[in-house]
Amino acid sequence: MDAEIITIGDELLTGHTVDTNAAVIAEQLTNIGLSVRSIYSIGDSVERIEEAIRQAVIRSQVVIATGGLGPTDDDITKKAIVKAFKRNLVFHEDVLDNLKARFAGRGIKMPAINQNQALLPQGATFFPNRNGSAVGICIAEEGFIFIALPGVPMEMNQILVDEVVPHLKGLKTRRTVKVIKLRTTGIVESKLAELIAPDLKLANGVRLGYLPSFSGVDLRVIVEGDEEEEVKDKALELVRYLERTAGRYIYGRDSDSLEGVVGHLLADNDRTLSVTESCTGGQLGMLITSVPGSSGYFVGGLQAYSNNVKVQQLKVSEEMLVEHGAVSEECALEMAESCRKLFGSDYALSITGIAGPDGGSDDKPVGATFIGLATAHGVHARRFSFGTDRQTNRSRACYAALELLRREILDIK
Ligand code: ATP
Ligand code: MG
Repeated sequence: MDAEIITIGDELLTGHTVDTNAAVIAEQLTNIGLSVRSIYSIGDSVERIEEAIRQAVIRSQVVIATGGLGPTDDDITKKAIVKAFKRNLVFHEDVLDNLKARFAGRGIKMPAINQNQALLPQGATFFPNRNGSAVGICIAEEGFIFIALPGVPMEMNQILVDEVVPHLKGLKTRRTVKVIKLRTTGIVESKLAELIAPDLKLANGVRLGYLPSFSGVDLRVIVEGDEEEEVKDKALELVRYLERTAGRYIYGRDSDSLEGVVGHLLADNDRTLSVTESCTGGQLGMLITSVPGSSGYFVGGLQAYSNNVKVQQLKVSEEMLVEHGAVSEECALEMAESCRKLFGSDYALSITGIAGPDGGSDDKPVGATFIGLATAHGVHARRFSFGTDRQTNRSRACYAALELLRREILDIK
């Protein structure tokens, strides 16, 4: 089945809002076996929205729109829907009651303007919204399903996942699609391809994609076919091949994050971690503590940004700093070791580098970063050469540090 996505709002066309809704919907639809043919963004114009909806339902069996379902005057999607499908707006008592209850639950009297939201296209069905006031609207006619969702990403997401996806899954689709994402880090895309490509044989209906980002390269396996079993088998076969050829770089699957995976490893092995950061200024600690339950293994961190703090709080030696500088393997080693002592943790990570844009030299250009790891068995450090962009360098340093720890715990050489 073909699908199209229409995202609505002037803010998408002026560049003030990044169209994350389209990406989220496209991913979900692809995962359940629909082919997304196109994604359109349209400004707040009733005529244009109406025209886009009309064209889309001729071409595709599933059309999903987001945005402009709110109660304010700039929310005009409903006007366009009733024009496109030649229907009237009818009042829905039950929707109004739900709305009133929502507001009452928050201790607010419902503003009169929200009554608009109980006016909905005739003959439509509705998807409840647990995070907001605009319900999702579904109009099914011979040959197509049209669904309009609110624009607020959190609301859109909830209705999409809880209501729309199960609804669409219940429809007869022509084929089965399986998508598996294997997440790698610590290796660049071209090197990964060198490992994987030589003996790779892709069966019919099987595709492999490389999706690089600063945190690593995702390998996306997509298998399409008629038989569910066959699709599953082909996907598993490719996954096993990828694990054989590039397994040491694969830290997780699908929605796994490196910080989450490392957190699990620490928790499962009953180990604790502390960090000391120079150029990342706390970003590594933030990443680690973004994982729920991190208090079970993360002890704390020290932002040793200035040399003064490195010497006075962390007790790294002044002589070493004079001789090698703060951005050096020696400093990363001392930082990690002292941090482990200071916090009494099983592992300690240290990061010191030149994030840029200034401060580089010939032997230590911008991007030069040293990451140390202290364990019960000793301390080691690695030099990394990242790029020229400050933010990217800082992020890459954090992921590299986590990967160093992952390999240590799993004893991957
Ligand atoms: P509301 O009831 O809040 O008015 P709505 O359905 O009218 O919901 P919009 O007014 O279009 O939604 O957008 C609400 C918010 O969601 C805005 O801050 C907007 O920037 C954001 N938003 C809208 N569309 C998208 C999109 N496609 N991707 C990401 N964010 C979006
Ligand atoms: Mg709005």
